[in-house]
Amino acid sequence: MPLTSIFPELIKAKNDGYAIPAFDTLDMNATEGMFLAFSEKNAPGVIALYGGFLERPNAHAVSAYIRERAKDFEVPISLMLDHGASFEQCIKAISYGFTDVMYDGSRLPLEENIKNTKDVVRAAHAVGVYVEAELGHVGRGSEYQSFGALRKGFTDPDTVEMFIKETNVDFLAIAIGTAHGIYQGDPQLDLELLKEIRSRVDVPLVLHGGSGCTEEQFRSAIKAGISKINIATDLFMTAGKKLVEVAKGENPSYFSMSNSAMEAFRERCIYYIDLFGATGKA
Ligand SMILES: [Zn+2]
Repeated sequence: MPLTSIFPELIKAKNDGYAIPAFDTLDMNATEGMFLAFSEKNAPGVIALYGGFLERPNAHAVSAYIRERAKDFEVPISLMLDHGASFEQCIKAISYGFTDVMYDGSRLPLEENIKNTKDVVRAAHAVGVYVEAELGHVGRGSEYQSFGALRKGFTDPDTVEMFIKETNVDFLAIAIGTAHGIYQGDPQLDLELLKEIRSRVDVPLVLHGGSGCTEEQFRSAIKAGISKINIATDLFMTAGKKLVEVAKGENPSYFSMSNSAMEAFRERCIYYIDLFGATGKA
């Protein structure tokens, strides 16, 4: 079926207590692995492109590939901009056929984050595209001990209601102790904070920086109200390790490595789809 916004699926996930995985792609093999995994598990899902990738010369063609390939599968798949850096980048993604965009103004002063998110929401809604914003700031795992472990950047539950009301944003990424990339130490999630935020607003809540969390942490976060989980680092690391293995094997060739990369993405995506409870939910 054609690409579709993930928003209706997020509402179902929120009501039924599971989470939709959002996987970051960057090429054809990663993308193929993701499509195959979603299709095999009959699960709805998000294939995301990071903001920086949208500035590459082949971004339009990569988007077109994902858009065409989605038609070969019977599960609802969204093409989403991950961490859109500006209003302009979000509009570019929409013009490339993205069905959902994330605008990330989480490093800006609150007023600016509100203003920019509001602008993106207004433009996106005019053409039927849904928007995710970030409130609080999910930082880098490599700096985890100096912020996440100290609760720096955590989402303030007192500002959440106001932020949603002011911006009219559709779903929200929150900072409760996760981080992007590889963690320095182990992640600690503040599930009480998550529950508090969940109790104050209706919009689906999103967890970024999922790579490195334990299965128990994922299950608890979903139970406490997370409806979408973004995974990038772990997929890239898993596929990377697989390629090193193949490279060290007999007669390594790009042909075998290319297939192995796709297979590594497929397998690891299936793991997360099952873990998040999205299997059979399409
Ligand atoms: Zn993220």
